[in-house]
Amino acid sequence: MQQLDLVIYNETGLHARPAKALVKLAKSFDSDIKIQHGEKKVNAKSMISVLTLGVKKSGRIFVEIDGDDEVAASEAIESAVVSGLGEEVKAPKTNGHTVAHKMMEQKLADNQMKGIPASTGLAHGPVFRWSEKSFDLPSDYAGAAEELKQFADAVLKTRTELNALVIRITADLSAEEAEIFNAHLEILADQELQQEVKDRIKAGENSAQSWYAVCDAQANALSQIDDETLAARSADVRDVCGRLLAHLLNQSQSGKTLHQPSILLARDLSPSDTASLNANLVLAFVTSEGGPNAHSAIIARAMGIPAVVGLGPGMDSISDDATLIVNGATGLVEVNPSDESIEKVKAEQDKQAQKAAAMLAVAKDFALTQDGVRVEVFGNGGSAADCGSCKGNGAEGIGLLRTEFLFLGKNEEPSEAEQYDTYSNILSVMDGRTVIFRTLDIGGDKPVPYITVPNEENPFLGERGVRLMINHYPEMLRTQLKALLRAYRDSGTEKMGIMFPMVGQLSEWRKAKQHTVEVSKELGISLDGIEMGVMIEVPSAALNAVAFAQEVDFFSIGTNDLTQYTMAIDRQHPTLAGQADGLDPAVLRLIAMTADAAHGAGKWVGVCGELAADPAATQILIGLGIDELSVNNKAIPSLKDRIRNSSKAQCEKVAQKALSLSSAAEVRALG
Ligand code: PEP
Ligand code: MG
Repeated sequence: MQQLDLVIYNETGLHARPAKALVKLAKSFDSDIKIQHGEKKVNAKSMISVLTLGVKKSGRIFVEIDGDDEVAASEAIESAVVSGLGEEVKAPKTNGHTVAHKMMEQKLADNQMKGIPASTGLAHGPVFRWSEKSFDLPSDYAGAAEELKQFADAVLKTRTELNALVIRITADLSAEEAEIFNAHLEILADQELQQEVKDRIKAGENSAQSWYAVCDAQANALSQIDDETLAARSADVRDVCGRLLAHLLNQSQSGKTLHQPSILLARDLSPSDTASLNANLVLAFVTSEGGPNAHSAIIARAMGIPAVVGLGPGMDSISDDATLIVNGATGLVEVNPSDESIEKVKAEQDKQAQKAAAMLAVAKDFALTQDGVRVEVFGNGGSAADCGSCKGNGAEGIGLLRTEFLFLGKNEEPSEAEQYDTYSNILSVMDGRTVIFRTLDIGGDKPVPYITVPNEENPFLGERGVRLMINHYPEMLRTQLKALLRAYRDSGTEKMGIMFPMVGQLSEWRKAKQHTVEVSKELGISLDGIEMGVMIEVPSAALNAVAFAQEVDFFSIGTNDLTQYTMAIDRQHPTLAGQADGLDPAVLRLIAMTADAAHGAGKWVGVCGELAADPAATQILIGLGIDELSVNNKAIPSLKDRIRNSSKAQCEKVAQKALSLSSAAEVRALG
């Protein structure tokens, strides 16, 4: 029998979402699991019983786990509670770190160390010490004008690079993780910071020295603040500092590179370092500093890399030729583990791998519900490489090809020839499967050097997506359309899709379509076989879906933007973004209206926003009549598994129930 003694730090205690997450986790184990709070002891696998415990914030629970998989269950439950059961939790400080903690301290063996669990998962492998990149700052001074120019160039390159990173992380992970790099863009654009650097340059310091000195002072000041979250932002300042210095000094930003699967040991990892890690080679990472709310920990969770942070100075005693076991769920690190420990880890890894492999083995087959309804599962990507990963994981096509990738990393607009090559490559990788290309979706919030948008108070409500293209850059849109049509004609692919982002009014769609028709005539390439659709991301488009449905071939619902515009919550807002939940009944009603309008006109409808990959949304979306779900490559096998374990009839009931509720929390509690 395993016992846990835990404190719940969630704001609302053990209610709705956290309770549901805990019950779901308990149900995934065979062991008998009981939770006690006060005098009352209940079955952890019953949602109602857990809710009746009435555990409030800071309430203490005792968990008893009895059965064959009790060790794994105990570790998973502890980790899930500690990391907030799907919610952000703020726990009291202990030893200088913010940790929700287990009260019964574990006794550590001589070769064990305990850090803060930051990303679940088990790993065993050799150590690789990650060296931080150090920069040799030059002392020569080329004169104020030249130094200022060099600084301005480096700012531009850094901004372009960060913009590209935001797009890549949005596609590979999610908009939430990409937010980290949006924050870096803000640091970079900070007027005071820039002014200080310019003043120092004018006073005779070179650009690298000035930039480093100003950033260093800022980072130090932040790290002194007695607030874990703000202190963690000091790492962000250092990260942006290093990124810009690399451009100023023409050096690569990363430290040593990995050649074999290893466990990284680092003082701390910057978000940029973490995002650039090759998940195939990094088995896990351990840091001596840092906390569970650091951006590197957030990215590790999204990438599925096990991580333990804040191990303390003891980490330095681990020798370079050691092997480690890292348990990201408990924070336990075992140095040069015994054969028995290694065997245990292997057995657990095997179990998890078997489940993943079983799902992957059937991922290439179509996904039919138990009552025989096919739901198409497509992938989201931004490059030929992404498309390859999607295809490998069972994507039946690409439902959202974000073409921004090609544009954002550049200082000048990619030529038609370059675009043609990229699109042809993507079509060839997908080997006849349908690819839906979304035309360039950028705007005031993500500037590129060759697009000038007047300064806007509210870029998210301004010249974005298709508006920007038809109002200011019709030639850029036409060049892209030409490249797409030529790539399609030459690919031999039977069907391809083109869709337009951020359409709010029929007139916008009509203009975009008009450009496509004109380009097709100009090139003499027929539009037969090309489906043209709109993304439903603006509430007005969903509300007018009946009118749109008469003219478009399909709808693809972008729930990320649709949610932000419906809830009037910026999807990157530092404190409110968590409330912008696509399962809010308001958003679900717009999805339902869109699906009904599409079907009423004999058209199909997909969802390509993050909601499509959310396990809690699968049945609801199927029940609302969504025909195609388009998700990141990693989510494909498990999404197909969930579809196969659902029946359309049951999904419809769940969807109707969801529409009758009044908050996202209630919808999530449906289970
Ligand atoms: C969306 O808004 O849901 C979407 C898929 O587009 P993006 O995330 O690229 O804005
Ligand atoms: Mg969008």
